[in-house]
Amino acid sequence: MIVDVHSHDFPDSIARRAMSGMCRMTEGVLWPAGDGTLANHLDHMELAGVDVAVNCPIATKPGQFDVILRRALAFRDGELGERARRMIVPFASVHPDDPDVTAHLERIAEKGIKGVKFHPYYQNFSLVEPRSIRMFEVIAALGLVVQCHAGGDVSWSDLDGMCGPREIEGVMRRCPGLKFIAAHLGGCFRRPRGETDRLLDCGVYVDTSALHARWFCDEEMRVLRSWPTERILFGTDFPWVHYPEAIDWVRTFRDPRDHDAVFGGNARRLLGI
Ligand SMILES: [Zn+2]
Repeated sequence: MIVDVHSHDFPDSIARRAMSGMCRMTEGVLWPAGDGTLANHLDHMELAGVDVAVNCPIATKPGQFDVILRRALAFRDGELGERARRMIVPFASVHPDDPDVTAHLERIAEKGIKGVKFHPYYQNFSLVEPRSIRMFEVIAALGLVVQCHAGGDVSWSDLDGMCGPREIEGVMRRCPGLKFIAAHLGGCFRRPRGETDRLLDCGVYVDTSALHARWFCDEEMRVLRSWPTERILFGTDFPWVHYPEAIDWVRTFRDPRDHDAVFGGNARRLLGI
């Protein structure tokens, strides 16, 4: 079974606009494999043999909480179709500026949604601000899974100090037991060799989403090869990569004995699916 812990698709009404906006932001560095719609995502999953994908929406404004939660529930309840109900594990999203952030996190947990996605660049906050730490304490207490962008971002190359390995370590030291997925192999891209390894003893998971231009980044390959099996989760950031390429990459750099855990077993245990 293959579980992708990091994917995106958008409501049909905004997919085209969202994708073209992001393509412009990456200035041609990334060329998407899909068109950003749910149906296209599910087609790509089926073709590549991906069974389940975590949908990772990002609230770029506090007011987007409701519409994102509603879509998450629509996935779960089958309103977006039987395929989506079966193949998508929806996450929700809150914005750190939201004055009701605690109540909203409680609502997410009450509804049975399994986790929340953060992207500090799109949400303009640092993981180690006091308000962020308070928020992560609530998330830890509720048992929700955090899926968080980590390290630099092709669209925001001028920013730093928001969600690198150092900041993630800061969160984990303050919120032990938090279920935290650090995307992009812990944000090691363009970081000093070994910096992500500071996360090894604080229980963080890393996902394997590496973007096209980065397939052969030495540090990403080193983390993928050397991290303990139980801490690595297959993730793609679809639609920004083609599934077969992402699958091949992980298969190539991980021992075949680890494949079951990395491609699905670890994620199933973490997500309870
Ligand atoms: Zn992503």
